[in-house]
Amino acid sequence: MNFLARFTLLLFLFADASRADQAIVDHPARQISDHVYVIHGPREMPNPENRGFMNNPAFVVTANSVVVVDPGSSVHIGDMLLRQIRTITPKPVSHVFVSHIHGDHWLAVDAIKRSYPQANVHAHPEMIANARDGGGQFWLDLLSRLTEGATDGTAIEVPKIELQDGQEITVGGLTFRVYLSEHAHTKTDAMIEVVEDSVIFLGDIGVYQRMGRMDDGSFRGNIAALDRALALKLKHYVPGHGPSAGSKAASEFRDYLNTVYEAALKYSEEGLAPFEIKEKLAPSMTKYQTWPMFAEEFGRQVSLAVLEAEQASF
Ligand SMILES: [Zn+2]
Repeated sequence: MNFLARFTLLLFLFADASRADQAIVDHPARQISDHVYVIHGPREMPNPENRGFMNNPAFVVTANSVVVVDPGSSVHIGDMLLRQIRTITPKPVSHVFVSHIHGDHWLAVDAIKRSYPQANVHAHPEMIANARDGGGQFWLDLLSRLTEGATDGTAIEVPKIELQDGQEITVGGLTFRVYLSEHAHTKTDAMIEVVEDSVIFLGDIGVYQRMGRMDDGSFRGNIAALDRALALKLKHYVPGHGPSAGSKAASEFRDYLNTVYEAALKYSEEGLAPFEIKEKLAPSMTKYQTWPMFAEEFGRQVSLAVLEAEQASF
């Protein structure tokens, strides 16, 4: 080996070691259908201990290549996902689907693009516009702050290919059907169905056994999107956070949103204040109270539902 080759190798090893310091411990993928694997991530908010890992990165092994859905929050989490893919198949990653703008779902696209520069990265047109327009930087900064720098080293790789509602993309013999919403969990949401496997990736339109966030959402839009997914009567529903399951992984959160929104509509018309509506709702919330983040989110969500109900009645 000549000097230059040795020097290059040394540089490479050094760079690799410094990235390895920030490595995320392996979270094995669970196979949920013939072609679909999901890593069910931690359910807490991003923090220094989970290093920002909190979503459900997934991959679909087709005849020719691998399709990734929501690779995670950082380049380090994306590297961990790639390690899990390589335990299953040597096929390259050809496509990535991003469910929405929230950075815990997509900033790891950076790792996919470093290993597979040719990979096509797809998202809702509004996700792409928002990410370009400062949304990428906002989420990069927020995750760095919440994890005390554990996500640092990640570069923003904005998806380039706009999805269309109802579109079907065929990859290696499998059909990926696209469902876009105008305003559900955010204004940037895409759900992706793997038709042959009877699987749908809900993004954060569906969360299971965990509270969702509604700060950027619409109760009515989120309920409608979940009803649309449930009407497909599929075998497997993969939530953005929490375990994959049958239709329950979509219907429980739908029922919660419905209960809160209906109460907001009814009681705000009767002139009740949000704190009174919260009290009225308490008895029907017992089955949701054990969800992580319920206590932090519930009060604010009642206020958000009241605002939306008031706007709807104008
Ligand atoms: Zn989200």
